[in-house]
Amino acid sequence: LMIYVNGEYVPKSQATTSIYDHGFLYGDGVFEGIRAYNGRVFKLAEHIDRLYDSARAIALNIPMSKEEMEEAILETLRKNNLKDAYIRPIVSRGIGDLGLDPRKCPNPNIFIITQPWDAMYGDLYETGLTAITVGIRRNAPDALSPNIKSLNYLNNILAKIEANEKGGDEAIFLDSRGFISEGSGDNIFCIKNGRILTPPTINNLKGITRAVAIEILEKLGYDVLEKDIGLFDLYTADEIFVTGTAAEAAPIVKIDGRIIGNGKVGPITKQVADTFAEFTRSNGTE
Ligand code: PLP
Repeated sequence: LMIYVNGEYVPKSQATTSIYDHGFLYGDGVFEGIRAYNGRVFKLAEHIDRLYDSARAIALNIPMSKEEMEEAILETLRKNNLKDAYIRPIVSRGIGDLGLDPRKCPNPNIFIITQPWDAMYGDLYETGLTAITVGIRRNAPDALSPNIKSLNYLNNILAKIEANEKGGDEAIFLDSRGFISEGSGDNIFCIKNGRILTPPTINNLKGITRAVAIEILEKLGYDVLEKDIGLFDLYTADEIFVTGTAAEAAPIVKIDGRIIGNGKVGPITKQVADTFAEFTRSNGTE
């Protein structure tokens, strides 16, 4: 595999940075996760916009235009001859000293990794995932905003560890108030009596798949309500699903030991997943 590193394409084994890169030392940087389906990159402009917004929010100036970033992403795919792929652009603060001060890091590092990829949950799309709500809280909006897709994913990792320990396929965060936030790498929807609820993006990442799912649900004639959701709403839901670039639309059939609905993938979840699959096959940048 060839990796984009600051304007060059190098073999995977040579795609490296310094241990003094503040991306490594402090998680100081931003990233995106993007998918290509059959040679088309899904929602590329939206992912690039979010990458630049994340960078702006941490006062990191990406030293290339959005147009150049788009071209670099497409060229990385072409160089690797990949049609169905996961793409990971990363911009780190760059190499500095051991201090925190980003002024010591004059040159951000830009990497674009890609690899072959299929939807992450395999058979679980048919049988449904088990989820665990975790003790670690999602970032509070007044601290490190959960809207920033930064390289600092430590709380997501702690959530994953907790879910792993408890036998969950995915971890669900609550926010500092105790309301539902999102999964460790995906947004959450719950359905009750044909009404769809999802938390407002103040306490979670503004998911690009989330936005597509809302569009799909509204086109299918469902009402989607963005409102705070408590544990009670989750435990008593008819259906729950999560959305993400890697997860796509994945059903949750058990949460904290409670069976959701009849424990099988629900009809609305199935409709969203099927429509999403059509969407990814027929849209995207070549
Ligand atoms: N929430 C978190 C914490 C994520 O890392 C991701 C993945 O990007 C998502 C949600 C889903 O966002 P998207 O649909 O844009 O991939």
